Amino acid sequence: MVEGRCMKCKQNREMKDVEEVVMKNGMKAAKGICTVCGTKMYKILGKA
Ligand SMILES: [Zn+2]
Repeated sequence: MVEGRCMKCKQNREMKDVEEVVMKNGMKAAKGICTVCGTKMYKILGKA
């Protein structure tokens, strides 16, 4: 399970449907959906 900060819940939440992506600035991030409210969330993982 990956945890990230949900902007809507304003709390750390578990993410579902987690997908690893590389952003334009070269940083790796995990993209997922908040298990509580369904909002899209990102977690920065560091440099790719
Ligand atoms: Zn949420």
